[in-house]
Amino acid sequence: MVRTRFAPSPTGYLHIGGLRTALYGFLYSKRYDGKFILRIEDTDTARYVDGSVQIIYDTMRDSGIMYDEGPDVGGDYGPYIQSERKSIYTEYAKKLVELGGAYYCFCTADRIESLKDSTGNIRYDKHCLSLSKEEIERRIANGEPYVIRQNVPTEGTGTYHDLVYGDISVDYKDIEDGILIKSDGMPTYNFANVVDDHLMGITHVIRGTEYLSSTPKYNLMYDAFGWERPTYIHLPPIMKDAQHKLSKRNGDASYEDFVKKGYVKEAIVNYIALLGWSPKSNVEKMSLKELCENFSLEGINKSPSIFDETKMKWLSGEYIKAMTDEEFVEKADAFLKQSKVYGKYDMLKVANLLKTRIEIFSEIPEKIDFLEEFGEYDLELYTHKKMKTDTEIAKKVLPLARKAIAELKEFTFDSVHDAMMNLVNELGVKNGQVFWCVRVAISGKQSTAGGVMEIAELLGKEETLRRLDYSIELLNK
Ligand code: GLU
Repeated sequence: MVRTRFAPSPTGYLHIGGLRTALYGFLYSKRYDGKFILRIEDTDTARYVDGSVQIIYDTMRDSGIMYDEGPDVGGDYGPYIQSERKSIYTEYAKKLVELGGAYYCFCTADRIESLKDSTGNIRYDKHCLSLSKEEIERRIANGEPYVIRQNVPTEGTGTYHDLVYGDISVDYKDIEDGILIKSDGMPTYNFANVVDDHLMGITHVIRGTEYLSSTPKYNLMYDAFGWERPTYIHLPPIMKDAQHKLSKRNGDASYEDFVKKGYVKEAIVNYIALLGWSPKSNVEKMSLKELCENFSLEGINKSPSIFDETKMKWLSGEYIKAMTDEEFVEKADAFLKQSKVYGKYDMLKVANLLKTRIEIFSEIPEKIDFLEEFGEYDLELYTHKKMKTDTEIAKKVLPLARKAIAELKEFTFDSVHDAMMNLVNELGVKNGQVFWCVRVAISGKQSTAGGVMEIAELLGKEETLRRLDYSIELLNK
């Protein structure tokens, strides 16, 4: 059975790159009816940020990238938090020492420092590899601090096949005898990832390319233990532009921030799926369920992908357009609340007005606040070259529009429309000349969500007339 995992370190919010790794692991496991596991890699206490484990749980739930096993949901392979697995790592590190794949090292910080070469690089010289068993036991019994290091061969080449990048080879002489267990007894990532992926039955390891060249040293451990190596899938980096990687430091690169900015959640997940993966068909808008059905490793690109916020915005707009008015009202609630019209108008009608005119929810207030806010505006708004309008046309059109609207018995979208069209014919002017002027007159804005009829319908007859009167007066001042 396919078992994939997402193994974030709790070092802050969940950035887009991390979420993409999680998403691909999730999609791959769902595609093959497998299991998706969340493991918290918190052994690097110096980088630990309070609250970030909760952010990971919340973000994954909120985005729909839900795990089958994990710290807060349980499972048969726990604990799923590395800091709770300390004794497991100690046990396996000792085993690895017995198997010759690792050794105790008592070198002091000063001795390590003395190994610095002219370029400032330090490379451990296997000094403690030759210590006798007795000496090691004696020094441990004496309470001397020690670490456990990996025993990497001095010659030979480690090769493996990555499903995205193909055959990868690294010469062992280029790999240092890295620390597996630190002096405080905590494992490093280099050791814990191997032990955990094996014990948790992970079949496919999906992670960023930064681990591509360290994987041969992990394979050495799998081999020493006699464990089966997992299948590796390394993912291309996500770039901010051609030169810069998208990083946590780029500010906006977190799921949470984009949600706060008003992006539709499904659109964020959909867009992230396309960062490094291309579907077979040209259809780009895909729900999580459709992504699960279509995801394939063959579609993963080797080359870095550029994070294009404009495209994600477009996708968000597509999701908004496809919503029912009810759905819109529910999903946009927090942003509708920020507008001045909240609770004062029929929100379903407002939704209908907005749906085709915004891409992200945060555009809502600026698009509809004119319904509540109306006062002096710049008369230049009447001047529009393409529409062939100006204040003179407005002066002619508005009093007649006011009269036509005042005479309406029924005040509906259709009746307002017909009244405006009659006026167009009566005056022998272009449609735009009437509609543009009336819209400015009743909104006081150049661009709004909605045209004359929609706005008038929402405002009601009385307010529409009041605004026309105000505008006529303003024009004749
Ligand atoms: N904790 C590692 C990280 O956050 C995980 C790498 C992996 O998936 O193996 O980069």
